[in-house]
Amino acid sequence: MKYLIPLLMSIALLPAQNAPVELSVDATDAPRRLIHSSMVFPVKPGELTLLYPQWVPGEHGPTGPIADLVGIRVTAGATAIPWQRDPVNMYGFHVTVPAGVNSITVKIDFIMPADAGGFSSGSSATSEMAVLNWNQFLLYPAGTPTDKLNYRANLKVPRGWRYGSALPIATESGDTVQFQPSSLTTLIDSPVLSSAHFRTIDLSPGSEPKHYLHLASDSDAALEIPPAEVEHYKKLVLETGALFGARHYRDYHFLLSLSDHVAHFGLEHHESSDDRVPERFLIDDSLRRSESYLLPHEMTHSWNGKFRRPAGLATPDYEQPMKGDLLWVYEGLTEYLGEILTPRSGLSTPELYREELAATAADVDNKVGRQWRPLQDTATAAQTLYGARGDYDDYRRGVDYYPEGTLIWLETDVLIRQLSNGSKSLNDFCRAFHGGGNGKPEVKPYTFNDIVTALNNVQPYDWAAFLRKRLDSTDPHAPLGGITGSGWKLIYTDTAGQLWKDVETARKYTNVTYSVGMKIKEDGTVADVRIGGPAQQAGIAPAVKLIAVNNRAYTPAILHDAIAKAAKDSAPTEMLVRDGEVFHTFRVNYHAGERYPHLVRDESKPDLLTAIITPLSK
Ligand SMILES: [Zn+2]
Repeated sequence: MKYLIPLLMSIALLPAQNAPVELSVDATDAPRRLIHSSMVFPVKPGELTLLYPQWVPGEHGPTGPIADLVGIRVTAGATAIPWQRDPVNMYGFHVTVPAGVNSITVKIDFIMPADAGGFSSGSSATSEMAVLNWNQFLLYPAGTPTDKLNYRANLKVPRGWRYGSALPIATESGDTVQFQPSSLTTLIDSPVLSSAHFRTIDLSPGSEPKHYLHLASDSDAALEIPPAEVEHYKKLVLETGALFGARHYRDYHFLLSLSDHVAHFGLEHHESSDDRVPERFLIDDSLRRSESYLLPHEMTHSWNGKFRRPAGLATPDYEQPMKGDLLWVYEGLTEYLGEILTPRSGLSTPELYREELAATAADVDNKVGRQWRPLQDTATAAQTLYGARGDYDDYRRGVDYYPEGTLIWLETDVLIRQLSNGSKSLNDFCRAFHGGGNGKPEVKPYTFNDIVTALNNVQPYDWAAFLRKRLDSTDPHAPLGGITGSGWKLIYTDTAGQLWKDVETARKYTNVTYSVGMKIKEDGTVADVRIGGPAQQAGIAPAVKLIAVNNRAYTPAILHDAIAKAAKDSAPTEMLVRDGEVFHTFRVNYHAGERYPHLVRDESKPDLLTAIITPLSK
């Protein structure tokens, strides 16, 4: 629970609603992972509360990096003004504005972490590039919706660095850019990507609105995107237009970070996305395949998440806690649409799409945690799950509304197609629910009932019961009706698919979860064991280190050989593990060989899955 500062405490603010806060961000020390920031607030004498953004939109939790906010100094002219942190709300700062003072200056610094995981509060800068998220570099006055707060930002980048952002530019001079004034909401929704190694590609030349792919990296070599990939991203722009029928942005900017030293994730914005992948993503086929869905997912959020937003996530400021109960729509539908837009755009192939879907289905179908935790609870508890560790993941369940959301929305799509005899599909739902007029960003909140009504307008059915049954279920198995209904079957074979191997390479682990029941990092650390799987039954726990398999030092090849040998005889596989200072030998009784998920065709039914991933645009 979060204490909310009473609105009365900010009566001192803003004599004129439109007088902007002047924000100057100096990022010239970004290569040393320090950001300097200065704000001039128009004020009136009296009590004033300034807030540091806590609930970061898109991160679905109170993730504002308050511990990295340092160097707070408040002045009126040459006079220092004392400040006190609120004793309960660590994100609140109280000052008393002296009589006769109509503006104060607040200076803060921000420490950018190095090689840290997480989301936007993870590592965001190297000596060569930086992702600059405004929410980390500013305070705002309590008591006014952020849509109504006006900020005018300028930014100084390291000498010679170039930049990209959806925030409209007023003037540029040397290494300093003055942005046009905007609401605080739009400012924080418009991060800046800047780098010494920078390139911008126009993805919709000659048409409106504009779409740009900005690339920033630790090297020039990493910017050499193959021409065919540029065509696929251009096609992604066409496919989103064909799917949704309208665009709710002035222009759209992919901010693609290519670095092995920034946190890897994607964060959606209304007119841009902050997309972070390994340095060689664009020039290494395996890496590219392993993350091909990222940009389609984040762009889909401009419609599903930013324009149409669950009511509980459409908060007036960054203090009010968000409610994640509809994240199975916000993230689950985005996951489904992003995944089908990927082959529609040519960013992956139908075969790779089916491999992704098979891995998703197997993942959620094998989670023992489904028997205590319904999918709904993973959404409701989202703010606790993004930071959860990966050990005993199938018992805990993580943010399963992504993968299981994909299955539910696939089943919805298949049902609409079947019930309408092929005349309707989820594409029609997207056009109706996410379409409308073109133009500037706006937010249209929705409830569960709004989703049900919109589905019924496309194809009458008891959608409320259909959805609630899947959301509230404690069935041990996943809803696979979308796969079987679309003419395919989930099976396991002894051969891993291409995408499975790509993901193992990219994430630097060995995944034998459906055979011996383990995921093992490249140094031998057991990242996780499957509850009830052979390794766990033998006594192996997460976090121990696998030292040897059948008396030979562990390597992935030695383990695969041992699984193959055990399939031919009845001897257990001996695994020597180290747990702290103690060594143990466990005997794993497993003799069914390697097992990897795949989809195979069920010729008794029409192939709706192939129809679903067929491009819409001409
Ligand atoms: Zn997302």
